[in-house]
Amino acid sequence: RTVYVNGEYLPETEAKVSIFDRAFLMADGVYEVTSVLGGKLIDFDGHAKRLDRSLSELDMPSPMGRDELLEIHRELVRLNEIEDGLIYLQVTRGAPGDRDFVFPDPETTEPTVVLFTQSKPGLAESPAAKEGIRIISIEDQRWGRRDIKTVQLLYPSMGKMMAKKAGADDAWMVEDGAVTEGTSNNAYIVKGDTIVTRQLSTDILHGITRAAVLRFAREAQMKVEERPFTIEEAQGADEAFITSASAFVTPVVEIDGVALGGGTPGPLAARLREIYLDESRKAAI
Ligand code: PLP
Repeated sequence: RTVYVNGEYLPETEAKVSIFDRAFLMADGVYEVTSVLGGKLIDFDGHAKRLDRSLSELDMPSPMGRDELLEIHRELVRLNEIEDGLIYLQVTRGAPGDRDFVFPDPETTEPTVVLFTQSKPGLAESPAAKEGIRIISIEDQRWGRRDIKTVQLLYPSMGKMMAKKAGADDAWMVEDGAVTEGTSNNAYIVKGDTIVTRQLSTDILHGITRAAVLRFAREAQMKVEERPFTIEEAQGADEAFITSASAFVTPVVEIDGVALGGGTPGPLAARLREIYLDESRKAAI
């Protein structure tokens, strides 16, 4: 596989980053994951904009403009012959000479920019889309700026392991009695013809897929309520689902052992997934 590191396209075995990189030492970096369907990028501009926002919230300069970033994404898709898959992008504050809590001067320390691809044939036809996934709830113990997409992913990773140990697929995190989001996705329930999902704030990541799905839902005359909901309300809902760049819209069929809609994926989630995939493929670049 060919990867991109700081201006160079290299075989993955030759790509190197300093041990003093602040992402390695302090998780001082941000990332994006963009999906590729049919060799094209899904919602590239949404991811590029969120990257700039994450960087600016952390006082990091943007390493390059949108067009150059797009070119690198496309070149990696071409070099690695990606039909369906993901592109991972990471920008860190770079590698000053020493470990120090104080940010290095951006004039003297260059950011580290890394991109690589993951081929995932049939990404849009996963078994999870047909069968749905099972969720457990866990306490949300992450830091308070979840709107910044940092590489500080230890707690979400632990949450995923807690789910696996419990025989489930993923975890929804709960704070002050209400669901924030999934370990790597946004969370939704459906009550009658209304979609309920937590409102945007610093408590959750502002999902690029979330923005697109809510727009398509409203265009299809579905009702959307952006507000907190509890696990109890979710267990009594007609349907539930998650969204992310890699899962698109994926139905949830069980929450803490309680089956939803008889344990099979609901019609609204299925319809939204279809609309999302159709529209996103049409708009892909
Ligand atoms: N919430 C969290 C915590 C995430 O890590 C992710 C994606 O990685 C999402 C939500 C979904 O965001 P997006 O739709 O932009 O992939």
